[in-house]
Amino acid sequence: METKNYRIATWPAFLHSKCPRCRKGNMFANSMYGFSGQKMNNTCEHCHLTFEIEPGYFYVAMFVSYAMNVAEFVAVALAINILTGSSNPWLYTLVILFVCLVLSPFNFRYSRVILLYWLTPGIHYNPELSKDETVE
Ligand SMILES: [Zn+2]
Repeated sequence: METKNYRIATWPAFLHSKCPRCRKGNMFANSMYGFSGQKMNNTCEHCHLTFEIEPGYFYVAMFVSYAMNVAEFVAVALAINILTGSSNPWLYTLVILFVCLVLSPFNFRYSRVILLYWLTPGIHYNPELSKDETVE
């Protein structure tokens, strides 16, 4: 009997915001940049993992988002310095604020994904849960 390898790679699942346990179900119900805001699913539609494992759990994602923001600020400031060589603080402030606003949906989404993928003890990928219920 032939057995299929159901293992799903980490990085594609991470980039597509898939469930950290089965890597099949979507963590978010809509797109990152939309007019309706981001809506996170309560549970995985495939393996029924509850994403907010305890009330207020996603407050921890604020710390991840903070670290992401600092990294983005430093990268933007270095890019401005290298590209323009300017020492005008208003240029840095305005560009960094603009980048902060543009990347806020990205930070919101991926801070939660990083939290669930790598910073939450007890949630690990289980290849058995990646299997489709209807095996051909
Ligand atoms: Zn799942």
